[in-house]
Amino acid sequence: MSELITHTVTDWKMHKLEVDAKCHACDGSGVYDGMAEREGFGVQCSRCKGDGHYIHLFTFEEFEGKKKLEGVKRVVEHNPGIILGGTDLEAFGGMPYEDWWNGKKFESGMENRTYTCPAWYYQKGTMWDECDPAGKPYSACLMFDDKALCWIKWDEEDSSSRP
Ligand SMILES: [Zn+2]
Repeated sequence: MSELITHTVTDWKMHKLEVDAKCHACDGSGVYDGMAEREGFGVQCSRCKGDGHYIHLFTFEEFEGKKKLEGVKRVVEHNPGIILGGTDLEAFGGMPYEDWWNGKKFESGMENRTYTCPAWYYQKGTMWDECDPAGKPYSACLMFDDKALCWIKWDEEDSSSRP
């Protein structure tokens, strides 16, 4: 068993965690016996300098509750590469920050349906026969102006195949 050492630097509320770990590079042996090492040769492991183990040092800050951000008004589940902003925040989907803060979950309809199609939003490439050949930007699809129809189709399809 590895020995765990924790100590707190009180001013910063930072923790340090040191773990004595077996060296994966040499499987704890301290030497490589690889393809180029023949006839009984080994090479000292460069990762652990031959010790067979090394100290992993993690530093981390203690979590003291979720932090609320000033200035955030709306939260989206993910952003498939669209500049979000402007006056009509709702057009980008998502939900008000307050709702998100209070634990509301994302649901169907909260995607960025104004500016992206289902294949774009969910990064599915060519999803249906109507989707334009792959290799083009999603916005160049012949269906893109009618993407509301694609969202209807998306809603009608079995939700079990969704991410
Ligand atoms: Zn090693």
